[in-house]
Amino acid sequence: MGLLDYGPGKSFVKWSVWLSWPIIAAGKRLSNVPVLKWLIGPFFMRPYNEVTAVPIDVTVESPDSAVVPIRIVERLVTDVEEKFIIGECICRSHNKVATPPMDIGCMALGPAARRIHPSHGRMVSTEEAIHHVRRAAQAGLIATVAHAWIDPVAFGTRFRDLMFICFCDDTNCIYRTYMKNRGPTLDGVYKRLPGISLAVDREKCDGCGQCVDRCFLAAISLENGIAVIGESCAGCARCSMLCPQNAIFVAAEDEDALYAQLITRIQEVSELPVRTS
Ligand code: SF4
Ligand code: SF4
Repeated sequence: MGLLDYGPGKSFVKWSVWLSWPIIAAGKRLSNVPVLKWLIGPFFMRPYNEVTAVPIDVTVESPDSAVVPIRIVERLVTDVEEKFIIGECICRSHNKVATPPMDIGCMALGPAARRIHPSHGRMVSTEEAIHHVRRAAQAGLIATVAHAWIDPVAFGTRFRDLMFICFCDDTNCIYRTYMKNRGPTLDGVYKRLPGISLAVDREKCDGCGQCVDRCFLAAISLENGIAVIGESCAGCARCSMLCPQNAIFVAAEDEDALYAQLITRIQEVSELPVRTS
């Protein structure tokens, strides 16, 4: 491919992110405002914005065994032929933070990833992709599997056969931040992987409220001094990891069922070619 076959280079995309960051942040807040919420909502909705959390750094209980959700992401990067690792996390780069490591960037999947300009990173093998996912898990990051319009716009690629897996922390990710002040039209735009569920052990919870403060979706509240997880929970499992009483449990269907659910969700909104593993 010649350079003209690629989308814009790194400098242009960084500049675009710098410009669009406050617009996205404001859009989430303004989704609370009458009329504006109907204008803003479609930018965050299916089929233009399909975003699923996969808690890659936890092991969860299933009816028959322990499930390791990182396997879901490893299977996905194995079953999609084209993989491109972005050399640095755009969000952490924008916020100029060194930890979690900036070089654990997003991964683009699908034929459209071949059009991403080489200044952003490089195409990688399955082994390199799995190594990258494992590094992200070790760094305590959450995988965000996204088919979102903003990625092909930023990188100048096709939308229909492009998927991104971003590796997100709590305080820098443009997907996860500014969501606490959203309006109801944005409820459910950052989704739980079907088959994952959370529950609070009422005997263990002491009502300290740490999970309430830290949930990026404000999906937890205290009722009579006990944490209660609401419908908007995206199943990222962050609250489970930080609860000092180990009072929040994550449960899951078996690995094959979880993987099938994720692939179905992806293929309902995209034409991403996924081999069967
Ligand atoms: S962090 Fe744990 S103990 Fe504290 S309120 Fe939440 S569930 Fe209860
Ligand atoms: S309730 Fe817990 S698992 Fe659900 S979105 Fe909030 S932090 Fe993530």
